[in-house]
Amino acid sequence: MYAGQNLPVQNVSPCPVGCSLKKSGHKGSPLFWFCNTFSTIHLGCHFFFKPLYIKSLPLSVLAPAHPYFAQALLEWYPRHRRDLPWRHTRNPYAIWLSEVILQQTRVKQGLPYYLDFITTYPTVHDLAAAPEDEVLRHWQGLGYYSRARNMHHTAQQVVREYAGVFPDTYNELLKLRGVGQYTAAAIASFAFGEKVAVLDGNVYRVLSRVFGITSDIAAPATRKEFQALADTLIPAAAPDEFNQAIMEFGAIQCTPVKPDCLFCPLQSQCYAFQHGMVQELPVKSKAKASRTRYFHYLVLRHDDTLYLKKRGAKDIWQGLYDFALTETEAAELPALDLAAAVTALGGTIDTSRAEEPVLALRHVLSHQKVEARFHPVQLTQPLPAAALAASGLAPFTLEQAHDLPKPVLIANYIDKSWK
Ligand code: SF4
Repeated sequence: MYAGQNLPVQNVSPCPVGCSLKKSGHKGSPLFWFCNTFSTIHLGCHFFFKPLYIKSLPLSVLAPAHPYFAQALLEWYPRHRRDLPWRHTRNPYAIWLSEVILQQTRVKQGLPYYLDFITTYPTVHDLAAAPEDEVLRHWQGLGYYSRARNMHHTAQQVVREYAGVFPDTYNELLKLRGVGQYTAAAIASFAFGEKVAVLDGNVYRVLSRVFGITSDIAAPATRKEFQALADTLIPAAAPDEFNQAIMEFGAIQCTPVKPDCLFCPLQSQCYAFQHGMVQELPVKSKAKASRTRYFHYLVLRHDDTLYLKKRGAKDIWQGLYDFALTETEAAELPALDLAAAVTALGGTIDTSRAEEPVLALRHVLSHQKVEARFHPVQLTQPLPAAALAASGLAPFTLEQAHDLPKPVLIANYIDKSWK
C-alpha cells in the first residue's frame, strides 16, 4: 500500500462529507492507497488520520501509457525500498542536499555525509552562512568538489533571491546554480508532487532494457528520447512514488551486473530479457581514457609550522589545500633536485635534522590517476613573507592543517605522517 497526492480531481466524485478534494489542506486532502489485493486505487479524504470516504478507481488512472510498468514498480517499491532519511521528508532543502550528495556517489558512501550536513547545517540559511572552507572540509572525501562549491553558492542564491524558500516548480528550480534537469525533477516531484520524470543512470538502464532502446545513453541527444518515454510512463497520481520506485528498482533489482531477472516483476514484458540482451543494454560508449599525472610534493616545515597552499581554478581540487607542488610530464616520477626546488621557494634545507622517508601514494580519480611522491623538508628558518606571497604558500600549525579542506591524498599523507 502507498499513499500519495495529486490524483486528478476530475476523476473523483465530490466528497459526501463536504471537503473539497483539493490538492492540499489538512482535512480536505484527497489521499489514495494502492490496493494490491484488488489492483485498484482507494481514494478517501483525511480527517484526523481516519479516511471518511472511500472510493475505488481503476488502476488505469495511474499510468497513461504501458500501465503494467507503473503498476509493477509501484507494487515492487514498498516491499523492497531501503529506509533512507531523505525519504521521510518533503523538505526541499533536505531533498536537494541528498540529491547533490548522491550524484556519482553510492548511498552507503553518501549517507554519513548527508547526516553530517543536515546536522551541521539544518537549514539552507545555515549552509549559506558557512565559510566555503568549512563546507569543503565537511565534503572532504566525496570527490567532485565543484559540487560542494556549487551547493554552497546555490544555498546563498536561495537565501538571497528567494528569501530562503526553495522554488516549488521544476522550471524555477532549473534557475538555481548547479541544479540540472535531474536534480530539479527530483526536488519538484519528491518535495512538491510535480509530475516530472527523473532520469539518472538507474532510470536509463531500466528503460533501455524493458523497452529495448539501443541508443547510446552517453550521447546528449539520447536524453530527449528517454525523457519523452519516461514522461508517458509517470502516473499523475503518484509522480514522486514512481520516480523513487524506478530509481530504486534500477539500484537494487535491475542492476548493471547480475540483475535479478529471475524474480523480476517486469520479466515477461522486458525486451532485454525476452531477447537475451540484458548484458548488452543499455548501450553506452566508452568514456575517454584516464591520464596519469605525476606530482612531487615538497612538504615544507619549520619546527611545528607546516606550509600549505590553496589550489586555484581550472584544475582538480579547486579550493582545497595541498603542499608546494611540482608536476612532471614524464612517464614516471624522475629524481627531484630537492635543494634547488626548496631554494626556488625561498627556503633552505636544514640538513642537520633527520628527514622522514619519501612517501609515494597513488590516488585514482574518475578521469585521472595521480602518482604522488611526498618529500618532507625541515627548513633552517621560516619562509620569508616575500616567498610566501610569490608561492601562495601559507603557514599553519598541524591542528589548523587538520581542519583545512584537503584532497584525500593529502589528508591520508598527513594522517600517515603525524598520527
Ligand atoms: S527482467 Fe532483468 S533486465 Fe529486465 S527489467 Fe527485470 S531485472 Fe531488469
